[in-house]
Amino acid sequence: MTSESKPAHFLQNIIREDLAEGRVDQLTTRFPPEPNGYLHIGHAKSICLNFGLAKEFGGQCNLRFDDTNPAKEEEEYVNAIKRDVSWLGFDWAGDARYTSDYFDQLHQWAISLIEQGKAYVCDLSPEEAREYRGTLKAPGKNSPFRDRSVEENLDLFARMTAGEFDEGSCSLRAKIDMAAPNINLRDPIIYRIKKMAHHQTGDKWCVYPSYDFAHGQSDAIEGISHSICTLEFEDHKPLYDWFIENLPVPALPRQYEFARLQLNYTVVSKRKLKQLVDEGFVDGWDDPRMPTLSGLRRRGVTPAAIRQFCEMIGVTRSDSTVDVGMLEYAIRDDLDKNAPRAMCVMAPLKVTLTNYPEGQQEMLSAPGHPVRDDLPARELPFSKTVYIEQEDFREEANKKYKRLVLGKKVRLRNAYVIKADEVVKNDAGEIVEVLCSVDLDSLGKDPADGVKPKGVIHWVSADNNVDCEVRLYDRLFNEEAPDAGGKNFLESVNPDNLQILTGCKAEIGLAQAEPEKGYQFERNGYFCRDSKYGSAEKPVFNRTIGLRDSWAKEQGK
Ligand code: ATP
Ligand code: MG
Repeated sequence: MTSESKPAHFLQNIIREDLAEGRVDQLTTRFPPEPNGYLHIGHAKSICLNFGLAKEFGGQCNLRFDDTNPAKEEEEYVNAIKRDVSWLGFDWAGDARYTSDYFDQLHQWAISLIEQGKAYVCDLSPEEAREYRGTLKAPGKNSPFRDRSVEENLDLFARMTAGEFDEGSCSLRAKIDMAAPNINLRDPIIYRIKKMAHHQTGDKWCVYPSYDFAHGQSDAIEGISHSICTLEFEDHKPLYDWFIENLPVPALPRQYEFARLQLNYTVVSKRKLKQLVDEGFVDGWDDPRMPTLSGLRRRGVTPAAIRQFCEMIGVTRSDSTVDVGMLEYAIRDDLDKNAPRAMCVMAPLKVTLTNYPEGQQEMLSAPGHPVRDDLPARELPFSKTVYIEQEDFREEANKKYKRLVLGKKVRLRNAYVIKADEVVKNDAGEIVEVLCSVDLDSLGKDPADGVKPKGVIHWVSADNNVDCEVRLYDRLFNEEAPDAGGKNFLESVNPDNLQILTGCKAEIGLAQAEPEKGYQFERNGYFCRDSKYGSAEKPVFNRTIGLRDSWAKEQGK
């Protein structure tokens, strides 16, 4: 699916018209994360949309940290967000920007509203303010402080700014309409006292603007033409417009809303993801089980797969939940096309080839990829002992079992045909070795007797391989909607979301595997070397995803 073959979505249509009719000279969008957590797959939708539109229409997209709340924000998050946006393949225009860059201007505009008689300092406590606000059905009541004079308000706001008052003792509110059906217009708070240092502005300020007061004005300062946000801000739009109309801003941005991404079996809320980290359910924001961009990256998912997924889900104005199988489909599709092939035995069983010369090693060659000639061929050392998967051998089996059976033949992938002659067991009766004969005339051709083995199994040289650990991840949650209807999402964390296999044997070429680069372990799935754990001698491989493609199958039904 490409943008050319897909019908335009509503935002593309709006922008095309705005440009055609000259309402806008140049498209300017922004991606405005709050630096209070790492980016997740939901943010990817917004990033692909904002940066994608800018690219498509020859405009620009800014990266703006929406850092109005010093309590929850940190520099670590700022750096992680920049890294993730770049990794996803997008360049922001100029330097990264910060809402805090505009605190002086925003403060002046707050004073401008006071001077116009459109803002006042209110001394209601937060509880009282809640009572005065009214409900969806009942109008609010005017604050007893609403009619303070301009002079008094200017004086009080200056003293708030100077740190004379305690947190929560007063706030600056826009004077709009306490009876407005839209609660956002009932004299919203525009500045509150917070005696807290800020990661960008240090201790310069002890009053901070609200999100609503900061966002549209920051858009105006940056000349954003289309301020694209998620649907929950639809009710804030009249307020967005009210500030723009009532302030001497340098541009007239407009807000547009689209449906946020919801994925089943997943939570996409920074607050909840932070809880998983803080409470030790996962090993950091970049844990490969996390739906964060850094987690997906560490798991071996490529930026192209995420962009493809965002293209597949499209952009609409109606909320719906996307099947996580669609993301898995995009990941698998990308890896199938691009990941080099390799072999890795997860649970090794020793096979001795009794008629192969002792001490001999030959190098076999195997394709890097079944159709991608540009991926280099692999060298596979072959010798008298090899490992196969324990589950690929049975003493007896019916015809459906197309692997190695005692007395029967199987092909070792990219190598010879072997026949199982004898089984060696330990005292506990477990199979510890299989003695086989190898048909040395079967490399790249059928055996001379014309009997073609039905099965092909993967293997690794027992003398020359990489000893490794393999981590198999399952879904983080075992409920489809872990956080629906106020449920405690922590209760549906899947207890079996990680299985660690040790003593796995991978083909020797994987000693050079780069972290996070995907490989298909033939017959097993897609894997990448972990960037955090493991050593040069003993790498750790993460399973990105299995081979099976259940989502596409269901679509085909
Ligand atoms: P969270 O609930 O995870 O904290 P947020 O919306 O508060 O999300 P922000 O950092 O404020 O997070 O978001 C930055 C941008 O990403 C916003 O424009 C927001 O609308 C968008 N965004 C966040 N989550 C999603 C999502 N699930 N789908 C699409 N866009 C999203
Ligand atoms: Mg937020």
